[in-house]
Amino acid sequence: MVGCSLAVGRQGVVAQGPYNEFAGELVVAEFEAPRRIEKGVQIGEMLQKKVISKMEYKVCSRCIIDTTVPGVTFDEKGECNFCKLHDRLERAYPLTPEGSRKLARIIEKIKKSGIGKKFDCIAGLSGGRDSTYTLYLLKKFGLRPLAVHFNDGFGNPVAGENMRKVTAKLGVELRTITSDWRESKDIKIAFLKASTPDMEEGTDIGIASALYGTAFREGVKYVIIGQSFRTEGISPLVWNYLDGKYLKNVHRRFGSVKLRRWKPEDPGFNLDLWHLFYYIVLRGIRTVPLLYYVPYVRKEAEAIITELGWRYPGAHYYDDLYQSLMTYVLRVKFNIDRRKFNYSALVRSGQMTRDEALERIKEVYVIEDPKIIDLCIKRLGITHQELDKYLAEAPKTFRDYPTSYNYIRFLRIPLRILSTMNIIPAIVYDKYFNCG
Ligand SMILES: [Zn+2]
Repeated sequence: MVGCSLAVGRQGVVAQGPYNEFAGELVVAEFEAPRRIEKGVQIGEMLQKKVISKMEYKVCSRCIIDTTVPGVTFDEKGECNFCKLHDRLERAYPLTPEGSRKLARIIEKIKKSGIGKKFDCIAGLSGGRDSTYTLYLLKKFGLRPLAVHFNDGFGNPVAGENMRKVTAKLGVELRTITSDWRESKDIKIAFLKASTPDMEEGTDIGIASALYGTAFREGVKYVIIGQSFRTEGISPLVWNYLDGKYLKNVHRRFGSVKLRRWKPEDPGFNLDLWHLFYYIVLRGIRTVPLLYYVPYVRKEAEAIITELGWRYPGAHYYDDLYQSLMTYVLRVKFNIDRRKFNYSALVRSGQMTRDEALERIKEVYVIEDPKIIDLCIKRLGITHQELDKYLAEAPKTFRDYPTSYNYIRFLRIPLRILSTMNIIPAIVYDKYFNCG
């Protein structure tokens, strides 16, 4: 990001400049003047947005990834590099008899590792569709999971109800790890001030560390996560960069409360490379993206978990209410629409047509509910004027802050080996090296 400026005027927030990493070469975004949505509440809402780029605007011929996505390249057929990554993952996790045998071997290993213990795996649970279906599968495969939910104060009550109902029905123990509210709020505000798209850095790190911390405490070797490259896709690195050192440095610069220290059983928001080394290499804790191994079709999964009392929270990622404010900020400040990689994944796996995806992203996503955005602002304890000030600051990326990125790049070959050996999920390697 070089030399881009944002200004707040009568037209709302206007981004313009010679180069914006979030939108190709030149961005001119036009917004409706901020309108009042509640008394005293002022949030600018973009009605019309024009992206004018010196680069030729282009959409992938197979999915809907376009030139607003950082790191995108196209081959001679007009197909993007994210599609190629999808095909590589499809080859690594084939839905064939060989793939099923691989899954059976993993399940046997998990069962064996849990002999004599109360649980044989830790399952991350958000109350959303993917993690709920993953928990259902674990029970179906005869495993004994402990469901772990990380609560940072922004949980959607619908998701909370889903977790209670589904775990009761499946006979699974649910453990909620509640973050220190002062810490999680302070981190969220720090990332708003840092002006990068990683507004959920605290939550993402908090979830990962809650899973590792619980696995350590229970002496469990397997952590199961509910992600799927076939339905969710992989976010470009610049749109979502995960790194404990990055969190610490941004918080050190913009935060005000002291973060508690790392303990292996209670890691808090600490997840540096050293902590990962401790959990993965020294303690031998493995992460398994279970949905990679099964034909995960959203509609079919939804029908199954609805039987268990699950309800759709209203939008993808809406198990977490902060996603409402985040989606809004990403759109108006960074020109980021995460549905581009979500829908692209569904298009590649034949669960949505490309035309439907292109049509859908023309509309502002329903997750941007003004009432919930207002609630998030209130919960953070900031004013609308403060939010407007953060929105007006020049967009940055993780590259503007000290992080472990250089170390991670240095570790490219060992990480590749670990991912080939399934010690870390393949997605981790691809995320850092093949996503822009
Ligand atoms: Zn593509």
